[in-house]
Amino acid sequence: MRVLIALGGNAMTAPDGSSSPDDQRAAIAQACGHIAELLADGHEVIITHGNGPQVGNILRKNELAAAELPPVSLDWCGAQTQGTIGFTIVNRLEQELTTRGMRRPVAAVVTRTRVDGDDPAFADPVKPIGTYRDAAHAEQMSRHGQVWKDFGARGWRRVVSSPRPLEILETPTIATLVAAGWVVVAAGGGGIPVVADGSGWNGVEAVIDKDLSAARLAADLDVDRLVIATDVEHAIIDYGTEDEQPIGEITAAQMQRLADAGHFASGSMGPKVEAVVDFAASGRGVGIITALAAVPAAIAGRTGTRVTPAAARGAASS
Ligand code: ADP
Ligand code: MG
Repeated sequence: MRVLIALGGNAMTAPDGSSSPDDQRAAIAQACGHIAELLADGHEVIITHGNGPQVGNILRKNELAAAELPPVSLDWCGAQTQGTIGFTIVNRLEQELTTRGMRRPVAAVVTRTRVDGDDPAFADPVKPIGTYRDAAHAEQMSRHGQVWKDFGARGWRRVVSSPRPLEILETPTIATLVAAGWVVVAAGGGGIPVVADGSGWNGVEAVIDKDLSAARLAADLDVDRLVIATDVEHAIIDYGTEDEQPIGEITAAQMQRLADAGHFASGSMGPKVEAVVDFAASGRGVGIITALAAVPAAIAGRTGTRVTPAAARGAASS
């Protein structure tokens, strides 16, 4: 099968969220072990990944250096993290394959994602990024053109626009590599947001939800399984209550009804559910949400939340 796997923040940082270079390398090593298993099982694999903690680190460096060096924009942050994370995944995955006596070429593609310059998100930046700071700091960064919001007792935080991903510009490149047998890392951090300006593409100050970009890429590459790998084995009904119920196999329509009923938090599980529902509803294949270590078993249909195109067997149970 052709599988697109989207690695969440937990696949790139320590369990406590620490993101030193060693923490990142250790987490990526684990993820690459699981990805090598998929390749050993004979699947074609495309990898995408988040970049929240890594962009957070760059933003903090921006802040510390602001009196001396102008901060780099978010499109550059995206490009830089695609480079670093892509490099780390390529290195480690090659190693995991060699250990297993396998040889597959692996490449990371710097990827741009087209967004609409008129997306309403640009007029209303609401996605908080980076850490809480005091008013004086927010004022200093505002002078560099950033938007900061007062979150009350916890302090100020930068907010940015999160427009919808419309098209992954490097899709033809990625498709060519995949068809030639390459394992491809692409669209990291949802892709670098760009808008058309008449003469070409311009990077913009925004962040793109990596799960929504993964769904776009999965559809355009005609994959059989879109796998959102995170830190929980299932999406859960009544999450955080005594009535928690893990979701096993379920149709896109049933999953959409649960989303409409508010079972999935908007900043975390919500976009993952939206991604797998969109993908499954298109009829191309099954969308899966599961924990990284459970990915091989979920692809084999034994665990995870598996969202199917049409009414299949079981419903909301594990
Ligand atoms: P990632 O970093 O892998 O993208 P997130 O932290 O954004 O992952 O989202 C996964 C988290 O979503 C889980 O750890 C859990 O705390 C939270 N979550 C919110 N609602 C649900 C739900 N209904 N079922 C399961 N997890 C949920
Ligand atoms: Mg997380």
